[in-house]
Amino acid sequence: MSLKKYQKKRNFNVTSEPDASRPNGGRSKKDLIYVIQKHQASHLHYDFRLEWNGVLLSWAVPKGPSLDPSVKRLAAQVEDHPIDYASFEGVIPERQYGGGTVMVWDIGTWTPEVHGVDAALRKGELKFTLHGSKLKGSWVLIRTKSGFGGSKRRQWLLIKHRDRYASTQDILTKKPRSVLSRRLLPGITRASGGVSIKADK
Ligand code: MN
Repeated sequence: MSLKKYQKKRNFNVTSEPDASRPNGGRSKKDLIYVIQKHQASHLHYDFRLEWNGVLLSWAVPKGPSLDPSVKRLAAQVEDHPIDYASFEGVIPERQYGGGTVMVWDIGTWTPEVHGVDAALRKGELKFTLHGSKLKGSWVLIRTKSGFGGSKRRQWLLIKHRDRYASTQDILTKKPRSVLSRRLLPGITRASGGVSIKADK
């Protein structure tokens, strides 16, 4: 795991995102962080992140997670992010990589349901339990055979397992606010003094 791609994509003189200079975000090692950031960039998506080996493994989920086990949500794996990033909420300046508003939609910890996480990631099937404020219970990430439309990004599916936390309720519309600040995207945009770009949710 490396944060080189993360650093290469960003200008830390311009964006207020963490610069990845603090290993483990200056945190003592204990539980593994899980976070979902709602990100209004050129397209609205949800960034799903799991701490592993000192970084946040990251997937962009265009439609966000679903509590319905019959629904498979596309999750495109993107560059690893620093642990510090888990609590980042604010505005990435326009014309910068990922420019737009970021909300911490859910945060908590996760537990692997397998012994070898690295082997599970290589194999392309990771089962895990989430202990978030909004998302709980058993989930799986499954890598698909190949990218869609010739995309080189690694495509996975995020799926809820059947358990007592499964539901057909739309958690995204039922609980739209930041888990840290209770704000909606436009409130976060305004607080940073930024001009709202299509922040309509
Ligand atoms: Mn994003």
